[in-house]
Amino acid sequence: MTDPRRSVPRTDAVLARPELGQAQRRLGRGVVKAAVAAAQQRVREGFLKADDVVAEVLATLPPTAASSRRVLNATGVIVHTNLGRAPLSEAALEAVAEAGGYTDVEFDLETGRRAKRGAGALAALAEAVPAADEVHVVNNNAAALLLTALELAPGKEIVLSRGELVEIGDGFRIPELLESAGAKLREVGTTNRTHVRDYAEAIGPATGFVLKIHPSNFRITGFTASPGLGELAGLGVPLVADIGSGLLAPHPALPDEPDAESALRAGASLVTASGDKLLGGPQAGLILGDAELVQRLRRNPAARALRVDKLTLAALEASLRGPVPPVRAALDTSLKSLTERAERLAETLAEFGARAVGSVAEVGGGGAPGVPLPSAAVSLPRRYAELLRAGTPPVVGRLERDRCLLDLRTVAPDQDGELAEAVRRCAS
Ligand SMILES: *Cc1c(COP(=O)(O)O)cnc(C)c1O
Repeated sequence: MTDPRRSVPRTDAVLARPELGQAQRRLGRGVVKAAVAAAQQRVREGFLKADDVVAEVLATLPPTAASSRRVLNATGVIVHTNLGRAPLSEAALEAVAEAGGYTDVEFDLETGRRAKRGAGALAALAEAVPAADEVHVVNNNAAALLLTALELAPGKEIVLSRGELVEIGDGFRIPELLESAGAKLREVGTTNRTHVRDYAEAIGPATGFVLKIHPSNFRITGFTASPGLGELAGLGVPLVADIGSGLLAPHPALPDEPDAESALRAGASLVTASGDKLLGGPQAGLILGDAELVQRLRRNPAARALRVDKLTLAALEASLRGPVPPVRAALDTSLKSLTERAERLAETLAEFGARAVGSVAEVGGGGAPGVPLPSAAVSLPRRYAELLRAGTPPVVGRLERDRCLLDLRTVAPDQDGELAEAVRRCAS
């Protein structure tokens, strides 16, 4: 018996192997070196033969130089915050690749001079929401609200209903964000009922603006009242509507979800929304509405700290102008086609205990709380949940009544083969 530690190949020798040269050019020396170190450790522990180190390194190298991994979202939650919210469309990904190098994000190729930053993305957004006289894009919706408060309410009051003092998730509370901008909150009404007169009585010389926040992740039902934007539009101060979800126009499947066009038509001076929820684009904060107010926001010194990069602008424009983004496709898929896919998959996976079942998907953190989206799933024995998460690519399903459900509403039809393959690999 020889001590396995004595046969561990030297790092330099492994890295010098031609098979690993290309990997180092693609992923960087550090990433490959980390994989080599892990393989050497396995030799030391006696789990791997010295001769197999290179093969092991090639098999365990990460797909990219970054640690984030592509996952298949089979949770049925379309806008899943922990899974990166909206997946970008192919068109958006291509736009990101095109804009990734030097790009004309702020340059006019005709005149050779500086141009308005992200003009194409801003034009696409303005076209998608005709009721907006002017648009601006910042880092996310939180940044949109922050910029609004910094410009319109420093040292002033923001009037909002007690029923809309919202925490979005991960401890993010909109009221605290607004106060951090130096604004004071003037809460009006009660948790369940607020009337126009409550707002009217609170408005005075100290008012910066009235804010309506869409409670995107919960619902208050029963004895409730809340004035519409139309009723609040005539109070003589700017009316800001945080619609959250980023729907730009009404969607038939989500009748109660507010949209930017309708909110502006109803009388909102400004609308703020996220880019990576129901719009299906990159993380971004959209600010739409009154031209003078939007220009004031854009000129605020903080706007520079909140501005988006060229990749976001490219992805946003392609999401707006290109083919329907995956989020919209998931929302619009018919139950019939989902059921057919589930049945087909369950048939090919029958030997693993798969069954096709009805399921209920949801929009998710992005909006439409309590709106059930009828769906279909492949149901597997519970233990598959963990096995699938550990696969490549990882598949994240949903546990329900001791079964692992793979909800197909959030899986693109062209990923069905990959999903089936992932299940087969678990069993082998
Ligand atoms: C999601 C949401 C936010 C926060 O948006 P981010 O883009 O995550 O910053 C703010 N307000 C509402 C109503 C939301 O739904």
